[in-house]
Amino acid sequence: AAKNDGRGRARTFNRSMLVMLEQREMLRRSLRVALQEKQFFIEYQPLVGLSRGIVGFEALLRWHHPYAGVIPPALFIPMAEADGLMGKIGEWVLEQACREATTWPPHLIVAVNLSPVEFLRNGLTDRIAGILDAVGLPADRLELEITESVLLERTTDNLDVLNTLEVLGIRIALDDFGTHYSSLTYLKNFPFDTIKIDKYFIKDIQTNRKCQIIVQFIIELAHGLGMFVTAEGVENAGEASWLERKKCDRLQGYLLGAPMPAEAIRDFLRQSSFVLQA
Ligand code: C2E
Ligand code: MG
Ligand code: MG
Ligand code: MG
Repeated sequence: AAKNDGRGRARTFNRSMLVMLEQREMLRRSLRVALQEKQFFIEYQPLVGLSRGIVGFEALLRWHHPYAGVIPPALFIPMAEADGLMGKIGEWVLEQACREATTWPPHLIVAVNLSPVEFLRNGLTDRIAGILDAVGLPADRLELEITESVLLERTTDNLDVLNTLEVLGIRIALDDFGTHYSSLTYLKNFPFDTIKIDKYFIKDIQTNRKCQIIVQFIIELAHGLGMFVTAEGVENAGEASWLERKKCDRLQGYLLGAPMPAEAIRDFLRQSSFVLQA
């Protein structure tokens, strides 16, 4: 609706706002058939260990819209959640990513993002156990990435789900750490294996003293609690060497490898092992 400009007059609804709304509506409508029309695909971004060994890959969902091209997840996932479609889409991602991971060298993990609606849906642990069983992936090769927003509601239920996942042997990563409602009680109460520091803190890591102090603190906090730390959004060698000096366990970002289609993983791994041997 048109917004009030504060002086009692409604601002006119301009043409570009209309175009934007029409595009959103168009996307929302086509999202309903995207799964059955097989328009989703997954890209995999390498997670790289301290000695530059590949630890695994994070699965990142993309939607290839027939007219609009490839739509980023930040745009369509909120729509899918609002329209009750994210449960089915998330199940597809999990099954697809776990099946893909069975074709990789057996020490590599696959990380899959779970949105709050997926996490809070009943029967999550049974569905995941069923998928692992069906595709034949050992539970300890799956890492689930959740954000702090998941933990805001229904805290005891959440704890039950996380504990069940832990008992199954699945790893849990706390994604985008530091950008939501970071509360240290989460770290006390929930069994995380890994904390992922949001790229927001990484992009200024070489120049901004406050970012340096915050990141160093998160790394020490995580290690003190027996958790691993991943830095997201590592784009240049200066950032990587700063993080390596501070003993950040894993790096992820364009410097180490952009998200790639499943078919590119084999070549990527071959080249990386060559680099390690050199
Ligand atoms: P995320 O889980 O924090 O994923 C990291 C995002 O950072 C990805 O964006 C990735 O492409 C991007 N990225 C990687 N390296 C760099 C870098 O060096 N610099 C910068 N600036 N960005 C980098 P993407 O793929 O657009 O995904 C955005 C978000 O959408 C993800 O953030 C995640 O929260 C969500 N998402 C993606 N796939 C799924 C999925 O299958 N299910 C759910 N529920 N959420 C997903
Ligand atoms: Mg993630
Ligand atoms: Mg993240
Ligand atoms: Mg994010």
